[in-house]
Amino acid sequence: MTLAEKDRAYVWHPFTQMKLADPPILIEKAKGCTLYAADGKTYIDAISSWWVNIHGHANDEIGTRIAQQAKVLEHVIFAGFTHEPAITLAEKLIQILPPHFSKVFFSDDGSTAVEVGVKMALQYWHNQGQTKRTKIIAFENAYHGDTFGAMAAGARSAFTQPFHSHLFEVHHIPAPTVDAFEESIALFKNLAASREVAAFIFEPLIQGSSGMLMHEPRQLDKLLAVAKENDILCIADEVMTGFGRTGKNFAINYLQNQPDIICLSKGITGGFLPLGVTVSTQKIFDAFYADDVTKTLFHGHSYTANPLACAAANASIELLLDKACQQQIKWITNSHQLYAGRMSTHPFVKNFRCRGTILALELNTQQGTSYFNSIRKDAYDFYLKNGVLLRPLGNVIYIMPPYCITKEELEKVYEVITQSLGYLQQKSKEK
Ligand code: PMP
Repeated sequence: MTLAEKDRAYVWHPFTQMKLADPPILIEKAKGCTLYAADGKTYIDAISSWWVNIHGHANDEIGTRIAQQAKVLEHVIFAGFTHEPAITLAEKLIQILPPHFSKVFFSDDGSTAVEVGVKMALQYWHNQGQTKRTKIIAFENAYHGDTFGAMAAGARSAFTQPFHSHLFEVHHIPAPTVDAFEESIALFKNLAASREVAAFIFEPLIQGSSGMLMHEPRQLDKLLAVAKENDILCIADEVMTGFGRTGKNFAINYLQNQPDIICLSKGITGGFLPLGVTVSTQKIFDAFYADDVTKTLFHGHSYTANPLACAAANASIELLLDKACQQQIKWITNSHQLYAGRMSTHPFVKNFRCRGTILALELNTQQGTSYFNSIRKDAYDFYLKNGVLLRPLGNVIYIMPPYCITKEELEKVYEVITQSLGYLQQKSKEK
């Protein structure tokens, strides 16, 4: 059998309707922003392979550090034992996060980082005998991952439909966009008044999976102020926005009012290995710190704080903080704004949204804005045919490149999107 035939025979791919999907593209190698396929074609990875790859593929420094670590210590149980790469990473994170953060809890990916955050918040109240503090507030259109707790915190949608009767109740309020702010804060205050809200979980500034929906720091700050007044724990899900994506190291760096818990993953290892962390304040940690063993945070995965993943993360954070990378982030931010400005008058562009290295264009299709908008496939195929990997969220096309993208590569991505608009407008009319 060929590899393609074996893939068909043995593999079940994520977020893929296996009956309808085209055969997956076999990638043999990758370097920088370029993916090299087995059939000789190349693709610019303009979405950082599901938003994880921040320094480009096969980055030499990260690869070397993982290889060095693999020769010394590949893994060790993280309960009762510890190791240098995890300690160094925890210290680095505490140094680059706002100063009120204190303790780093390791897990495996974005969903588990969120699970841990929600469990920390609920058990914080439980450990103090506050049994009525159980409600959770989240945003409409939220996406926090695919495990049950993360799904429960996220919006109810076609993705979660089969599991609705098993998802715990979460109060979803509109995100504080300019239009929805008054309603959002009124609902927040109303829920807070019950004194039964344990936690508020949110994707700060950008709701990624629901179509790169954006809101302003000032409005989010006002919700956080209400949370603070009412002792509601705030959980920032920065799985997507962390590590420079929004132009600052973390989206919460734009805020005055700070969360109690932050969930990080994706870019943390530069896209090399899975790793999640949930970082808490001392106040949260102290509610678990007791002579009573039942107050323990009983959570842990087999690969918690895997040394190879931690070594990758240490290298990736050093690269992120380097002047060259910070300059690239600024340059991408400015380029996106210039390009978005140029595109804003295009009749097929309904709306554009920019924050840091993320640019989203919402297309003015007949079907309206939805993940299941069929223009998605036409757009996806068009970009692949033209050598660019972009994975539109319905009728929202977005760019989220590795920070090492070159001027020529970014220009090519813009050019291919520009070329696609006329074609997609025609396709949309035909539907
Ligand atoms: N939270 C946010 C904001 C995300 O964007 C994602 C993934 N897209 C997750 C959580 C889940 O992360 P993972 O896929 O690594 O489980």
